[in-house]
Amino acid sequence: MLDEYLVPFIRPSFPPAGQIVHDLKEIEASNRFSNYGPKELQFSLALADFLGQGLHVTTSANGTLALLSAIQCVFGEGAHGKYLLTPSFTFIAVPQAAIWNGYRPWFVDIDLISWQASPSSARRILKSGRGAIAGILLPNVLGVGSPHIREWELLAAEWELPIVIDSAAGFGSFYEDGSLLGGRGSCEIFSFHATKPFTIAEGGAIASNNPNLVKEVRQLQNFGFDEMRLCERLGFNGKLAEIPAAIGLRQLQGFKDRLAGRRKVFESYAKAFASLGFRFQPNAEASSHFCFTMCCETAELKSAVLFNLERARVQARDYYNPPLHHHPYFVANADQEQISCLPATDDISSRIVSLPIHDHMPAHDIELVIEAVSEVF
Ligand SMILES: *Cc1c(COP(=O)(O)O)cnc(C)c1O
Repeated sequence: MLDEYLVPFIRPSFPPAGQIVHDLKEIEASNRFSNYGPKELQFSLALADFLGQGLHVTTSANGTLALLSAIQCVFGEGAHGKYLLTPSFTFIAVPQAAIWNGYRPWFVDIDLISWQASPSSARRILKSGRGAIAGILLPNVLGVGSPHIREWELLAAEWELPIVIDSAAGFGSFYEDGSLLGGRGSCEIFSFHATKPFTIAEGGAIASNNPNLVKEVRQLQNFGFDEMRLCERLGFNGKLAEIPAAIGLRQLQGFKDRLAGRRKVFESYAKAFASLGFRFQPNAEASSHFCFTMCCETAELKSAVLFNLERARVQARDYYNPPLHHHPYFVANADQEQISCLPATDDISSRIVSLPIHDHMPAHDIELVIEAVSEVF
């Protein structure tokens, strides 16, 4: 079937089928298909090696389960009236993972410049509701390392709150200090879903400088079993199977080249759109370029841009619009005070446009996108 779009929003690249067949034969010969087999072990170690910083890593079946595990192991089980601070301008899996652990999200507003969770908004909430807040669930929004990370760490230390960082779309992205995402907070999680810059179709990982935390996550994701296969704690199945782990090992090879390809697209867009008055996220240039997100001067301009892209058969998005507190589930279930004062979130989400970035994007695709946006003027 032909793609409805000339330029789809996502075009993941995978290792050649021949390589995957080779891995499959190897897995077949070993008769180990899952349960933290040799490929998974190798992939975990390779991920740790890529991230450096002495980090420990375990894989997960997907990013959501990685987040669920991280929340459980860092904050413990939630209870009625316990909240995690998190922004509404992120992916829905973030508060969902909190809720499955028995917490509720308390939405902090974002910073108008960085579109990342704002530490000053969090400070205001902590002053009024400290007793109810169990921790900080901090996304690196759109896979971009938050420029406020140091400020969050100071705030967390001051209020004695742990931080779990969701870097789902940011495997390969850097913080402003030049360190790779993965080493901050109690742990950072990644997603390897087909939509992310580093993908194995479905998968995820948790990185931490605390080896015990990583061990605990592995146990949780394996039904809470101890070495005797006795259930020591409430667990579930969050294991990554051998075939996707093998694909991950292949994907790590050449990842830096694919990132360089994505960076070129980013630079072409940035050059073309900066002069048209669009604004980008600070530190986006040091990210793995999940997509190209820009903020229009007005919501009307945003509509015109999206209309033109659609007409040119370019698939665009507007992450994260609507922000989470406008989704029906949260409208129905959140306390008013959790969601009432999010002016920057409402403003930015109404003016946002996300453009496609692919690993190997042909020049004519890039030009098509740039022309479709520029035509609005
Ligand atoms: C993609 C994403 C997730 C979910 O990851 P899956 O692997 O799809 O489960 C969680 N959080 C954020 C911020 C994401 O972008």
